[in-house]
Formats: sequence, structure tokens, C-alpha cells
Amino acid sequence: MDYVMDVTGTHIWYYFICKREVWLIAHQIAADQEDDNLEIGRFISETTYQRQKKEMLIGNIKVDRIRREGDTLVVGEVKKSSTYEKSAYYQLLYYLDTLKKMGIEAKGELLFPKEKKVTKVEWTEEGKKVLEEAVADIRRIARLPIPPEPKKIQFCRSCAYREYCFAEES
Ligand code: SF4
Repeated sequence: MDYVMDVTGTHIWYYFICKREVWLIAHQIAADQEDDNLEIGRFISETTYQRQKKEMLIGNIKVDRIRREGDTLVVGEVKKSSTYEKSAYYQLLYYLDTLKKMGIEAKGELLFPKEKKVTKVEWTEEGKKVLEEAVADIRRIARLPIPPEPKKIQFCRSCAYREYCFAEES
């Protein structure tokens, strides 16, 4: 039987930002671990919600926060900023969908601590369709023999792969 790649929330997150990054991550090309943006991201997720944080691993998903609201489970995902809210939205929707497959109905909320902003996320048929297409496309990208060409986007400035993608320009 053909190998079917295990798609994670991280793949979903990058899919809506940069297809090349999806390939690099899928091929476990190590990013620059000294990169300041990686450090800032870690710091924010490790400190801002420290007091109320209950990180949990469910299957292959790691959720930042989980709480009850009456009978409903609410899964929270912490992000540095809302600039890439679409990515964050589908990543969280992917978690909700994974939970749904396990028989757990949950709602989601995206937390942007620096902006004091919270966005609610709910599972829908339309969202699920977008996710299914994204998962199929992520698997297609991962099977490509070489990564898609780099395209300069706003995210490149804060991407740990920027040296790798644009070495001759830096
Ligand atoms: S530097 Fe830009 S093109 Fe390269 S992986 Fe990062 S976001 Fe994609």
C-alpha cells in the first residue's frame, strides 16, 4: 500500500501562507533554530497564557489551551499576531475536525494576546471541504521531487527559512 503522509496542524498553518514551506517542513529540512522569530514565538506561547495554560496532546494534535464552557469543550490556539488569521483559522478547524472524528464535539477560539483579540472558530461543512482540499494538496506538494520556487511574500521577513530561500540576496 502507498504511504499516506500524516498531515498535522503545522502543515495546515503553513499551507495557507507558503506552499514551499510546506514542502520544506514535510521533508524535515531544518530551519534556522537561532532565528529571532522562532524565539519570540516560543516566548509568547510559553509566557502569555502561562497561568491558564493547559497544553494537551490529542492524537497527533497539540492544543495550547482547553477548557469547558458548560457542556462544550473549547480549544484555544495562541498566535503571535492576527496577520495570518486565515492560516490560524484552518489550523484550529483541523483540530476541531480531528476531535470530531474522535467523537468529541468542540468549539475553538484563536487567541492573539498581543492584540487582546479572540476569534471564535466553529466546525462547518464548508470549512471541512476546504480542509479536505488542503490536505490532498499538502500530500501532493510533499510528493514533489523538489520544492516549489520561493515567492517573496510578507511572511518571508519573519520566516526561519529566509536564508535558505534567498541566500544570495542577504
Ligand atoms: S522564506 Fe518565504 S518563500 Fe521561503 S519558505 Fe519562508 S515564506 Fe516561503
